[in-house]
This record gives sequence, C-alpha cells and structure tokens, in this order.
Amino acid sequence: MKELVLTGANHVDLLDKNQPKLTDGEALVKIAYGGICGSDVHIMCGQHPTAKPPFIMGHEACGVIDSIAAGTETDLQIGDIVALHPVRQCYVCDACHNGLENLCDEIKICGAGIDGFYMQYKAVPIQRLVKFTQCKDLKLCALAEPLTVAVHCFRATSMKPGDSVFIAGAGTIGIILAIMARFYGSRKVVLVEVNSDRIEIAKKFGFDVLDGADPNVVETAIASNNGEFFEHTFEVSGHQSGFDNCLKLTKKNGYMIQVGMPPHGFEIDIDQLIYKELTMKGVRHHRIDDMVMAVKIIDSGLLNDQLINIISDVYKKEDSQEAFKTAINDKTKLKVLIDFS
Ligand SMILES: [Zn+2]
Ligand SMILES: [Zn+2]
Repeated sequence: MKELVLTGANHVDLLDKNQPKLTDGEALVKIAYGGICGSDVHIMCGQHPTAKPPFIMGHEACGVIDSIAAGTETDLQIGDIVALHPVRQCYVCDACHNGLENLCDEIKICGAGIDGFYMQYKAVPIQRLVKFTQCKDLKLCALAEPLTVAVHCFRATSMKPGDSVFIAGAGTIGIILAIMARFYGSRKVVLVEVNSDRIEIAKKFGFDVLDGADPNVVETAIASNNGEFFEHTFEVSGHQSGFDNCLKLTKKNGYMIQVGMPPHGFEIDIDQLIYKELTMKGVRHHRIDDMVMAVKIIDSGLLNDQLINIISDVYKKEDSQEAFKTAINDKTKLKVLIDFS
C-alpha cells in the first residue's frame, strides 16, 4: 500500500509500506478520503511543536472496513463505511474514567502526536470507528471530523431556539458552525472575517459576513442583529481581534466559546467577563459521542446540500503535494480532500 509521509519541511512523499497487521480489537480500514485541516497546514509548514518529519499527517478521514481482527466482538462488518475518530486515550486517568477522552492525561491525536490517516489502509481500534448507516457519499463522510468539532462546540453552549450567534473566523470550522447554528434555529448568524476571499465564500452560504478590517465591526454586528448583542459567540480565528470582538459582542449572561488556538495567548479585558457575567468555555478536540452525532447528522441528510459545498477540491493521492499547495495558498478554497483509493 501507499502512505503519504511528511519527509521534510513543505514536502510529502507517497511511499510504499506493508499493509498494517491487525491486533485484537482492531479493524483494517481502506481509507477513501482524507481532509486537509489548518493544523495539517501548520505541521506541513514546520510550525507544529511535536509533529516533525518523518511523519504521517491526517486526522480527518473516512473509509470502508476491509477486515476485522479474528475474535473481535463488534457489530461492524466488512464493507461498512466508517468515520475514524483521531483521539487515542489511556482509559485509566480521571478524565477517561469520566468519559472525557478529549481531556485524557495521556491523550494522543492521530495526525498530530502519532501517525495519522493519510494512507491507504489504517488499523483502527473498533471503539474509534463510527459507522454510517445511510450516507454512501464518501466525500460527505470525509466531513465527519470537522462536523464533529462543531457538534462538540455546540454542546459547550446552552443554545436555545432563536438564540443569535456571532462567529469570528469564516474558514471551514466557522462556516460549519454557522450552518449548525442555522440548523439549531438561530434567529441571526453573523460571521466576521478578515480575508476577502473567505468573506465571499461565506456569503455564498447565505450568511451575513462582516469585514474584520472595518473599525466599526462591533457596531455593525449589533446593528445587523436588530440592535442586540449575541447570546452565543464562537472565536474560531485564534486572533486577538476575533477574541476582542467576541468578548464585546456576547450578551450579558451569554456564552463565549473559544475554538481557535492563538499562537501566543490572548490579552483579556476582564471587565467584560465580570460585568456581563459571561460564561467563557474552551473546547479541546472532541469525543467519540460527538462524532456519533456528527455521523447521524450526515446520515439524516438534513445539512448535506450545504456541507457538500464545504469541499472545494479533491486531489488524487499522487497529487498530494499540489493539494497542500492549494490548502496553504489559495484562500478561495475551503476543504481540500485527498483521494486515497
Ligand atoms: Zn482539524
Ligand atoms: Zn486517560
């Protein structure tokens, strides 16, 4: 089989490798598509603290079960379409005992701390596979992981029908969050973005998108929400300006969810938090139950006509270097997939 190896800064090679041998409780998944995420771009550009070449990236993938280790008790069957959950946990720490594997003391993330999914066949513990029962479109199935991020974010809120939502950052996750918010019944969803290409993309999904360069962006956002602050804000950009905007725009007693990873932390106007009695919550990775819900949403088909437009380009595995070039440089693209078949 082939695996895509990060062999040096900004360079990937498709190399031959023996198919993995299964151990107890594992299934061999024939990978269909792998998505390129912003964090893969960081790894590719040498900006990740631990993931250094030689390394196999990829934490977004779907595939088809090729075989299951003999004696493994599971309802999964050969031929099932599955999403792969990238978190590996210790099962014995306090967080694991409380069902919070995303906060495990010994957490390992496929495609970040340990080798990921950019290969043709991946051995995966069956507990980390989620089966699609309806959706047969493997490109849509490849969006299960970013949708899982959005599910995890929404579960961190106390979202109620009609609540308005402000999102800083209109990349893949920002737009999926906006789609989810609309699905939830938000009366208003507003995004802010600094990149003009991304602004145009988000507008095509039917959202109000404000220009982050506008010095009056806070006032404009409030005006667009009928003069009101927002019950929920999501900071996805990882930039100080996005953080400041969310903090200012969250309504009294509202929720601010920190999704983006700032490279050097944030300065915080603590008065905003105190005087408005805000609840600020961070989110880190996600859990298998989040992915179960994401897969159910894709299986339901309710959002698929919007989600499919998240995918901008699909490259063959042989053209992965080009795929990364696009993901890194071309902001007119959202999700770039690599076809590993
Ligand atoms: Zn990601
Ligand atoms: Zn643990």
